[in-house]
Amino acid sequence: MSPRCGVADSSSPPSPSKLHATKRFAYFYGRPRWQRGSDGDGDGETMTLTYAFSPDHRVGYLSAKDVRRVFRRAFDRWSAAIPVSFRESEEYGSSDIKIGWYRGDHGDGEAFDGVLGVLAHAFSPENGRLHLDAAETWAAADDFDGVTSRVAVDLESVATHEIGHVLGLAHSSVKEAVMYPSLSPRMKKVELKVDDVEGIQALYGSNPNFKFNSLLASENSSNSNGVGMTGIRRSSAAWNHFALLVCLSGMLLSCI
Ligand SMILES: [Zn+2]
Ligand SMILES: [Zn+2]
Repeated sequence: MSPRCGVADSSSPPSPSKLHATKRFAYFYGRPRWQRGSDGDGDGETMTLTYAFSPDHRVGYLSAKDVRRVFRRAFDRWSAAIPVSFRESEEYGSSDIKIGWYRGDHGDGEAFDGVLGVLAHAFSPENGRLHLDAAETWAAADDFDGVTSRVAVDLESVATHEIGHVLGLAHSSVKEAVMYPSLSPRMKKVELKVDDVEGIQALYGSNPNFKFNSLLASENSSNSNGVGMTGIRRSSAAWNHFALLVCLSGMLLSCI
């Protein structure tokens, strides 16, 4: 099986009026999103969600500093699009989003499968669990220059994708989208695409500082001339080889 996210592709369409669309973002069944985290006075202020790393479930070769930096960047990308901010917490037990590395069967009904295959999974709102397969060779560097493993997986790319699930996005059928379900080894794919942003903003509204036009412009230019694919470095051959689409059947709110 090609390396991919463990969240099932089954999902509900964005809305009945969008049923004609063939390639698009999607939500989990019932369209859950985070409600808590706002200050509750209804004045539209930014909602704040906390996240923490499991003190017990880590991988020894990744430094805490690198892991924190990578996740900070991944959270910031979503924050830029929606009025939700993320704050790291030292209190794992009470944090909204709980991040950890696990091996094989780890008690949530969705065993990890060793090298490649399923890379990670996350639960839909407001569960907050984000799990990474400890059997992967995770790379937290800015590029793969110093990484020798042919099966290295980019932590930032997977973190960005899984945070999308934590917030309520299911898998997109748009190949370029961060929420597409598979990722090749040694591939970096961290920039939100128009499809990702439209999906998440339909759930949470827009960050007032977000400029959709600049995103559209950069995406259009990259589509037309094949350069400027910010955050995506791949050969189409490699992508086609690894892109897979195994659907883990029937799971909607279990380990999604
Ligand atoms: Zn996924
Ligand atoms: Zn899990």
